[in-house]
Amino acid sequence: MSARIDDAPASGDAGPARDEAWFASRATPGIRGLKAYDPGHDLVAFRRRFGELALVELGSNENPYGPSADARAAILDQLHALHRYPDPLGGDLKRALAAVHGVPIERLMLGNGSHELLMQLAQAFAGPGQDVVFPRHGFAVFALATQAAGATTRIAEPLPRDAAMPLGHDLEAVLAAITPATRLVYLANPNNPTGTWFGRQALAGFLARVPGEVIVVVDEAYAEMADAPDYGSALERLDAHPNLVVTRTFSKAYGLAGLRVGYLLAAPGLVAVMERLRESFNVNGLALAACEAALGDTAHLRWACERNAEQRASLAAALQARGLEVFPSQTNFILVGFGRDAGPIEAALAERGVVLRPMGGYGLPDCLRISVGNPDENRRLLAALDEVMA
Ligand SMILES: *Cc1c(COP(=O)(O)O)cnc(C)c1O
Repeated sequence: MSARIDDAPASGDAGPARDEAWFASRATPGIRGLKAYDPGHDLVAFRRRFGELALVELGSNENPYGPSADARAAILDQLHALHRYPDPLGGDLKRALAAVHGVPIERLMLGNGSHELLMQLAQAFAGPGQDVVFPRHGFAVFALATQAAGATTRIAEPLPRDAAMPLGHDLEAVLAAITPATRLVYLANPNNPTGTWFGRQALAGFLARVPGEVIVVVDEAYAEMADAPDYGSALERLDAHPNLVVTRTFSKAYGLAGLRVGYLLAAPGLVAVMERLRESFNVNGLALAACEAALGDTAHLRWACERNAEQRASLAAALQARGLEVFPSQTNFILVGFGRDAGPIEAALAERGVVLRPMGGYGLPDCLRISVGNPDENRRLLAALDEVMA
């Protein structure tokens, strides 16, 4: 017997309330325990409140100089084609990247930011009952990716705070954390949020000792900015280690964070498996064109990296002169220790329109992460800091 229409709930009847906890109970085990990525402050609200020019945004490690002018021109050039789908293969950009890195195109995969690729690596290669190893104070996305895939997190403790590379990755500890259940290792080099790095020799020794069936992901979001003599990209080891994946991004040195483009380099077989997961048009047409153009402007890239290195050195010296703990950095940010809970300092700076990144979520509540701005931004940051610390 079918229900009469009068028995149906009146339209607008909400039915039983289904809150986040209820939907979480319906989600896969990995998602159930997951906390969404914390982007820091609501920057749109800040811009509205202070005005974009008054605001000093040093919380997200963006490039204060912006992208190559060629990237902007390439975007304008693409505006006639907004009704078309982008190239699902990203062929032109991949060919340009292949030329830059001297690798065949089969070793490359594009992502909607490297964040997407880091998530999909766990989705493809780790799951329930399997381990993913990464260092404490490693990039926040590693934990998210692991949990979302339903895999088990195994944390390697960092080097001590008084080591030559304070809070740097302890590659011996990473090796020791690998078990027969380990499928994936994530390392950022240089690392966010510590700014620390490990050298080319250390990486070669590490890769030689990792079991060949464990996939090692080296996230090199800041590689273009690293200029320490001992730093070496993992790309140099790609031929020797088919279990190695290197991720890069256009968000930092190339100044194109707003376009969301990252890429990975790995063995062609690994790329082919990852391609099964990729959303067909994951990188949009404006982004493809702009990144290809940006790659061609090596002078702009070099210029921005040189400005960053200069400003990083002078900002680090200025912070050190104020008695603060300044961690070594090969990136476009500096981790700074305040010797006490840095929360109130961060909040007071935010009230003055200076946005930094609090580190409580990374287990470093006495620290703040400060992106290296342009000279004017760094001056305004230091002036506000002096006011707040007085
Ligand atoms: C900023 C950053 C990224 C870049 O992420 P995108 O999604 O490419 O913008 C990746 N890894 C680390 C360690 C970062 O700091």
